[in-house]
Amino acid sequence: MDVFSKSKRSDIMSKVSGKDTKPEVLVRKFLFSKGFRYRKNVKDLQGKPDIVLPKYKTIIFVHGCFWHGHENCEAAKLPASNIEYWTKKVTSNVTRDSQNIQSLKKTGWNVIIIWECELKVKNREKRLDSLVNEILDKI
Ligand SMILES: [Zn+2]
Repeated sequence: MDVFSKSKRSDIMSKVSGKDTKPEVLVRKFLFSKGFRYRKNVKDLQGKPDIVLPKYKTIIFVHGCFWHGHENCEAAKLPASNIEYWTKKVTSNVTRDSQNIQSLKKTGWNVIIIWECELKVKNREKRLDSLVNEILDKI
């Protein structure tokens, strides 16, 4: 018999792998519950997308607001100290992201970005609802 409950176990697993950050897991679980099937952390696609839905030719990136420089977002505010360092760091992430997205789009992928702040409890339902539309609209 399992020592851990299901949720406890998945909590432990996500800590162990390091790849499954919580917001991504949340989106994946939602998609799965809606009957979507996906591949995750796809290494042979540019930017190693978090979630890929081959059937819908759709790629989903779940972006942390800070590291990916979410515009006008409270959670993306840079720390007051070492501002030059952080600005450089985040700017280079933003540049890389947009290059990845452009080249994926060029090869026919529908690319959807979900920001971490959109998955906060108060925004989540709305965001995930519109996600379904964004996926289905592109067929
Ligand atoms: Zn944000």
